[in-house]
Amino acid sequence: MSQATIIDGNAVATEVRNAVAQGVAALKQAGGPTPGLAVVLVGADPASQVYVRNKNKRAAEVGMNSFEHFLPAETTQDEMMALVERLNLDPQVHGILVQLPLPKQIDAQMVLESIHPAKDVDGFHPFNVGRLVTGGPALIPCTPLGCLLLLKRQLGSLSGLRAIVVGRSNIVGKPMAQLLLRESATVTIAHSRTRDLPGECRRADIVVAAVGHPEMVKGDWIKPGATVIDVGINRVPAAEPGKTRLVGDVAYAEAAAVAGAITPVPGGVGPMTISMLLRNALEACCRIHDQPFTEVV
Ligand code: NDP
Repeated sequence: MSQATIIDGNAVATEVRNAVAQGVAALKQAGGPTPGLAVVLVGADPASQVYVRNKNKRAAEVGMNSFEHFLPAETTQDEMMALVERLNLDPQVHGILVQLPLPKQIDAQMVLESIHPAKDVDGFHPFNVGRLVTGGPALIPCTPLGCLLLLKRQLGSLSGLRAIVVGRSNIVGKPMAQLLLRESATVTIAHSRTRDLPGECRRADIVVAAVGHPEMVKGDWIKPGATVIDVGINRVPAAEPGKTRLVGDVAYAEAAAVAGAITPVPGGVGPMTISMLLRNALEACCRIHDQPFTEVV
């Protein structure tokens, strides 16, 4: 039986969205602009289309303008760059999100670097990455920002705690490690070449798993009482033939028997990402228009 506190990402994500909605309303009431979020999707992948529509639906719910750009799979680099340039110049747009991955004829890094840093609500532009590392106002990648909020809600101060981030992607692992460092945790970044990963994890008060391998982090890798944040979203066959189910990168039942607190999959980190995107869009709008931005929760 599970002993760990289950960290309810849905509840915190709802709270963030409600706070963003209040922030948007206050901005409008003060005569300010309506924040606008543009989401660009190239190709007709149905799962990505659902995901993009969901982002826009959530943006509308908090009172933002949302703009969908669905481009055909054969879109060229030049067409993509031209769209980003138009969005950079559009005064109604304060946040630009290009859904990854992009088709192979488009250089994703070049596209991400062409987004104006002030509108880079995904926080992937080198300007924002640099600011995250060196300090100063920055737009920060949504998933790690959501993980950090869940951790702070659970633990309060992270100062002096030992944290391990398993995974070093630009989207999750690296910014997560930087955020933990900013909170004065003692941070280890693990990856596919790490020796004795179980031993490294066992020393950690905080384990953030972002590897993309179903249930790779085992219960006996977790220090008793540690806080476990499972970023992984993996679809695996369900017991019922022909059906699938979602699991994380952590063997949940085993880990929950040892951990102090743990995020479930689904219902943990996943719902936080869109909420933090909306938070970032509000921040971007406030900063572009020289309005004060106060942290939403
Ligand atoms: P990437 O594939 O970009 O990165 C995976 C990382 O895991 C790499 O750094 C890799 O190391 C490391 N890794 C792979 N195998 C091992 C191993 N055996 N031992 C240790 N480290 C290993 O994935 P992402 O960071 O984009 O995503 C990670 C997971 O998070 C996925 O399941 C993804 O679906 C999920 N995700 C969830 C989001 C959400 O909203 N909840 C948002 C984004 C991602 P190396 O660098 O050495 O190859």
